[in-house]
Amino acid sequence: MIPPGATIGILGGGQLGRMIALAAAQLGYRCHVYAPEADAIAADVCAAFTQGAYDDTAALAAFAAQCAVVTYEFENVAAAPLAAMAEHAMLYPPMRALEVAQDRVSEKSFVKPLGGCPAPWAQVDSPADLAAAVASIGTPGVLKTRRDGYDGKGQWRITMPADATALQWPGVPLIYEGFVTFFAEFSVILVRGTDGAIRYWDSARNEHENGILARSTVPATAQILEQVEEARVVAAKVADALDYVGVLTLEFFATEAGPVFNEMAPRVHNSGHWTIEGALTSQFENHVRAICGLPLGDTALAASSVVMDNLIGDAAHDWAQILSDGANHLHLYGKAAVRPGRKMGHVTRLVL
Ligand code: AMP
Repeated sequence: MIPPGATIGILGGGQLGRMIALAAAQLGYRCHVYAPEADAIAADVCAAFTQGAYDDTAALAAFAAQCAVVTYEFENVAAAPLAAMAEHAMLYPPMRALEVAQDRVSEKSFVKPLGGCPAPWAQVDSPADLAAAVASIGTPGVLKTRRDGYDGKGQWRITMPADATALQWPGVPLIYEGFVTFFAEFSVILVRGTDGAIRYWDSARNEHENGILARSTVPATAQILEQVEEARVVAAKVADALDYVGVLTLEFFATEAGPVFNEMAPRVHNSGHWTIEGALTSQFENHVRAICGLPLGDTALAASSVVMDNLIGDAAHDWAQILSDGANHLHLYGKAAVRPGRKMGHVTRLVL
């Protein structure tokens, strides 16, 4: 057990790290953020900050040496720098979870034998591979970068075969997926402790706009709820197979044929931000509890319904109006520059 007062390292300087650090502070921990950008918004609420690149093995090792445990809000870090940190501090979630989740081919290959059902997919390394994938899987489909994609970035909709031939070749490893006809999207967010105990939060219905999460609603619709148990079984098998510790998220499409696995994130997730006020213990607090070996908190709902809206781009300028309704819980991430498509904050509303 890592007692309160110890230092938790957080790799990544964005809003997820910021909210992990706030939860850690409540439990009496100090946080030390490592991130490449000078104006890391997580560092604003942390005791220490190291500015460094994700491939600077020596700097990462020195950072880890100052921490009792290192966790991540950014998982796209290569194996060698991760291993360098592992020599100096505990790494939770385990490195293997990052390796699996940071590549869309490896995450689908990992989840499938555990009962996860992904959309038909093919690895694409050349224009010829793409033509073959489009011929065998058909259109419509989505071409995605295998690594580093987020919020709909690194994705191209292929509506007809001509779209594939017209594409300017991105020059990175890709994956082509058949387009899934779904009636809704949902996520399973669980926390697994060092003793292997698993707890789930209620699954939110997630609505995306332009590939970015716009809203999470709990409880989800009855149609989604019918599929949650099957999805949880898959998520638990993934967590057990990775000997996972911390919060793990799996995203699913709810389809007529049952849950279709989309992707996983070895970390706290945007679709779980509602848990800060909407659950008895938030995803951030339980992540801290898990990686420090503390007993997990109750994940039950704290209200009869909860809605979380992301504040994307200019929407964050409406903070004064949002605050004028005393029922709104406003979270602003402190980002200096507003950009279209950038997550600037979120608002949560409960119905008790
Ligand atoms: P991703 O980054 O893979 O989670 O994709 C972002 C969003 O794009 C998803 O949440 C879906 O709304 C949509 N999307 C991605 N892949 C597919 C697919 N194969 N079929 C249908 N919609 C998709």
